[in-house]
Amino acid sequence: MHIGVDLDNTVLDATESHLKYFNLASGLSFTPDDVNDFYLYRLYGWDKTERDSIYNQFGRDIHWNSVPFPMAIETLKELFKHHKISIITSRPLFFRDVTVDWLIHHKINYHNIVFTENKLQECIESSVDVLIDDGPHYAEQLALENRPVILFEQPYNKNVRHDLIYRASNWLEVKRHIKHLSN
Ligand SMILES: [Mg+2]
Repeated sequence: MHIGVDLDNTVLDATESHLKYFNLASGLSFTPDDVNDFYLYRLYGWDKTERDSIYNQFGRDIHWNSVPFPMAIETLKELFKHHKISIITSRPLFFRDVTVDWLIHHKINYHNIVFTENKLQECIESSVDVLIDDGPHYAEQLALENRPVILFEQPYNKNVRHDLIYRASNWLEVKRHIKHLSN
């Protein structure tokens, strides 16, 4: 199978590292329990422009210091032996270097990496068989186009339901879904 893999809040804990640097920038002190929005910056009352300016300033540190979720690296290592793995991230190209360096640092193998906010189009054009992602909008877009998604559970995607959306709360469940889908 061709498996698309998101990074932030799928392979790694982006919430924790964003909060750390956004708290630093704002002087506020939010914790993961406060997060119930895919667009975490809205917690801080920032608009898109304010968020972009903070993100440009701290993005490198945010991404470099993100910690992988338990079993994510081990599972990807195993999947890489049997499947084509494309990392599909909506991070801007501006953060390509830190992203690739982080993947090398954590010894994550993949065949392809794409930076795009239009994941549906990428999945169609590259014939991705299943996308692993936490984004509620991506999951819904793909499912509506008859494409299966493994939805990595986060507080902001709890209510997303569809026959083609397979929920996973950890990487062992991701692995189980992949096994089922590749049979
Ligand atoms: Mg994500």
